Amino acid sequence: MLDYNLTDTQTQMIELARKIAKEKILPVRAELDETGEFPWSILKVLADAGLFGIYIPEEYGGLGFGNFENTLVIEELSKVCIGISVSFAASGLGAYPILLFGSHEQKSRYLPDIAAGSRLAAFGITESGAGSDAGAIKTSAKRNGDSYVLNGVKQWITNGGEAEIYSVIAKTAKEKGARGASAFVIEKGTPGFSFGKKENKLGIRASATRELVFEDAKIPGENLLSKEGMGFMVAMKTFDQTRTGIAAQAVGLAQGALNETIVYAHERKTFGKAIIAHQAVQHMLADMATQIEAARALTYQASRYCDAGAKDMSKYSSMAKLLATDVCMKVTVDAVQIFGGYGYMKEYPVEKMMRDAKILQIYEGTNQIQRNVIGQYLIKEAAAKKVV
Ligand SMILES: Cc1cc2nc3c(=O)[nH]c(=O)nc-3n(C[C@H](O)[C@H](O)[C@H](O)COP(=O)(O)OP(=O)(O)OC[C@H]3O[C@@H](n4cnc5c(N)ncnc54)[C@H](O)[C@@H]3O)c2cc1C
Repeated sequence: MLDYNLTDTQTQMIELARKIAKEKILPVRAELDETGEFPWSILKVLADAGLFGIYIPEEYGGLGFGNFENTLVIEELSKVCIGISVSFAASGLGAYPILLFGSHEQKSRYLPDIAAGSRLAAFGITESGAGSDAGAIKTSAKRNGDSYVLNGVKQWITNGGEAEIYSVIAKTAKEKGARGASAFVIEKGTPGFSFGKKENKLGIRASATRELVFEDAKIPGENLLSKEGMGFMVAMKTFDQTRTGIAAQAVGLAQGALNETIVYAHERKTFGKAIIAHQAVQHMLADMATQIEAARALTYQASRYCDAGAKDMSKYSSMAKLLATDVCMKVTVDAVQIFGGYGYMKEYPVEKMMRDAKILQIYEGTNQIQRNVIGQYLIKEAAAKKVV
């Protein structure tokens, strides 16, 4: 990989994550993929290593680093299994709304446990009729004195059922459309809040994907994040930070697939030589390596740009998510191709990697939606004559 001017601390974090991935995740990834068992034992190891608190300020029990350090760790874990790395990363997706929009009191109440990994977080906006079209959510939050009463069902929520702290977007004023949504922190165990269907998935099978069901769930008014009507702002600003995490999952997974493929291409012989000696195979590997490095460079730079608080960070975190996840899909398909028939078999890890890769082009905004975000920036920039 290129020299990205990493500090000693950043390099140590990568080494720590790599050690955990090799020693703890690698031995169980195939089994958890098969059984769909949630990776609690691995999350405990990540918690003990302090990794859940990387991006959380020291004041709230974290290590006080940023998006970039989180990106580096997610990439490393994802080289081995994104079913497990997403369970780790999705806690960040649930934490960012509190970090970005919570009051000091709310941050003090929730972030130390999330940083310690003693309580897992999750984020819920999607519903059966509202994915890309997030403004169409129907879950309602009606004010009743000092409380809100929530009704509705959130669908496909990563860490659903396992997490204890949920950042949830619901409509407080449905007639106001997207401006009528608000964000709430909701704790597992709240009366009227339960968990519905657990999904059986194509990939990332170690992760939990589940419905959140609200039936007259009474939430204290103090659990509102920011102000009423800020729900979509909370969601979008959160995604600005976490889309680089999806890009990191993609870079890591793609690199993991390439590493496996290079080893195999040395071992497998056809026509009297290792398949890596066939130029057609070499060219595929060269394309894979080149695309991964391009995706990594954009992901790292976008992540650092987020840490710098750049105004147009959405444009670049969307670009990183788009490029890295499209690269990852192509790389994992090509990895299976280079493995030939063996690539299609469960004895080798690349079929799992190809199944896992697909979700990256779908969640946290499909890649069509990322193109819409980038396209809107291009239109605005052209109108402001900022095109250079
Ligand atoms: C495993 C998994 C985990 C998930 N985890 C979470 C989570 O933790 N929290 C959460 O809130 N959500 C989560 N989601 C939901 C996920 O973010 C949505 O599935 C995703 O945003 C797409 O929404 P949709 O599935 O409703 O697709 P739709 O919105 O129905 O889109 C269908 C197709 O139409 C395209 N399309 C739609 N509108 C447009 C448009 N305007 N322009 C161009 N193309 C368009 C889409 O790109 C897609 O190809 C998860 C989903 C899965 C599968």
